[in-house]
Amino acid sequence: MLCLQQHKLVKAHAIPEAFFRELRVDGEKPLLVSSEPGFFPKHAPIGVYDDTILCNVCEKNFDGIDNYGIDALLSKFHKYFQPLERNGETLGFESSQVDKNRLLQFLVAVLWRASVSSHPFYSKVNLGPHESLARAALNTNTTALSPVFDAVLSRWRDEGEHIPTTAMLDPRREKWFGVNAYRLYFGETVAYIKVDKQPFTPQLKAISLRTAPPIFVVNRVLSESKDFHMIKRTVQRSQANKLKYRNARLSDK
Ligand SMILES: [Zn+2]
Repeated sequence: MLCLQQHKLVKAHAIPEAFFRELRVDGEKPLLVSSEPGFFPKHAPIGVYDDTILCNVCEKNFDGIDNYGIDALLSKFHKYFQPLERNGETLGFESSQVDKNRLLQFLVAVLWRASVSSHPFYSKVNLGPHESLARAALNTNTTALSPVFDAVLSRWRDEGEHIPTTAMLDPRREKWFGVNAYRLYFGETVAYIKVDKQPFTPQLKAISLRTAPPIFVVNRVLSESKDFHMIKRTVQRSQANKLKYRNARLSDK
């Protein structure tokens, strides 16, 4: 908990609810998917929340930074980011407008909440000794964001691929050329958030938030197709089950 005072605890989201709400297409409920073997996809109507981490007073401190992240990565993405095209192909997006410090602050603030949350969806996020640094990210007016944190952004969905995007994958920890990072999904944007004293390797650093402006969002270069296929399979299976269920009910009548 942030303050240890006797305030009322609230349903706090790590990844803001807006990113889950976005997945509610045609009355669908967002589907949580995990890379964990044996994990059964679950519906999460208002996203993933934890009512043991933040009180109503502390949660309000996240409003400004959350709204910034929602604007930049979701509701105003196409206003802030311009496509990078070559020979008619979209290679990614770039923005000179988005404030890289605020965006990184948002990503780290999400990561901190995921780390202190005991919800199974966030079970792979554990910042350990860096947790207090992440918590300090919320007040970067006074504290410069620790160099432990940096991020690279990508988009996982191609414009040409028509699949329902109602699924959200759980965050996970991975290494990029020996550097620790967490992979988090923000709608169609994937953030690879570095939590390591070492910097990213030069290839990744060239497109990282700390190197911006401009801020780059590269198309699936890092996310590759494994995740994409898993989401696609899960969503299709869920659609197929729903249709089966619907048809069964229809034939009952
Ligand atoms: Zn509090």
